Amino acid sequence: MAEETQTRGEAETKARAALLWRCWPDGKKFCPRCRAQKPYALAEGRLRCGACRYTFHDFTGRWLNLSGLSSAQWVDLARAFALDANTREVAQAAGVSYNTAFKALTVLRLAILAQGTDARQLFSPRTGLSDLLSNGKLCHAPESPVGEVPVYGILSQGQRVFVDMVPELSAESVLHFNHNFHLRVARLGHILITDRYKTYDGLVLCGDDRLPYHYLLRHQGTPFAESGSPFWLYARERLRQFKGLSARRFPLYLKELEMRYNRQGEDLLPMFLDALCAPIPTSTIA
Ligand SMILES: [Zn+2]
Repeated sequence: MAEETQTRGEAETKARAALLWRCWPDGKKFCPRCRAQKPYALAEGRLRCGACRYTFHDFTGRWLNLSGLSSAQWVDLARAFALDANTREVAQAAGVSYNTAFKALTVLRLAILAQGTDARQLFSPRTGLSDLLSNGKLCHAPESPVGEVPVYGILSQGQRVFVDMVPELSAESVLHFNHNFHLRVARLGHILITDRYKTYDGLVLCGDDRLPYHYLLRHQGTPFAESGSPFWLYARERLRQFKGLSARRFPLYLKELEMRYNRQGEDLLPMFLDALCAPIPTSTIA
């Protein structure tokens, strides 16, 4: 028993070192609020900024701080997720409850999304993603954001895929194109996928019960994305399996799938840990 405790302690020390190194690559710490260098050390690992008096610790203001997981639990969770484990398997690997794992995976998905060049756009009020964060904490937001349902475009370039929000379109525009311009649309639960649109392989959106799905017109044939877009064929099977997929959380899953698709065969763990250790951009916090 004592031996087991020690091993667990060692695992925690090792995991913490791996995360600290990613948070502070050159070991030089600074204040997360005013960025002043050389904070002084207080008891229990806390630090205080000499310039603005802010008290913080090593992970303050970073994604991994949005969950109460220990460093070892974070690393175990991220490793399992890198191997494409589902929430139940991830919970088991990290030794936490299903709900804790679900929340931690939301943090990890947000952190992954924040790494993208389109992060600012995706954290705009349009998607409702920023409502998942409040005062630097993960919070419960209704599953359906208010306002128009955003539309995403799937763009293939060789083996790579880009999934972009198309700001000028909304779910209503897709319904309009379907009705008046015969844009073919297929449905997967609350998700709609269309035929080719301009340079996109297809447009995709996830609405909720407010969207008049019954108005969709059926046109001959299958939309291109349903038959000819390798990314969509890959994403569709996975989206079917996700539990808790809602209009608000849809972009999180979409961007996760884009990343997994583009990095098939790569070890995702280092990228996941880097994402978790990155500072939360202040623009994402309401
Ligand atoms: Zn400061």
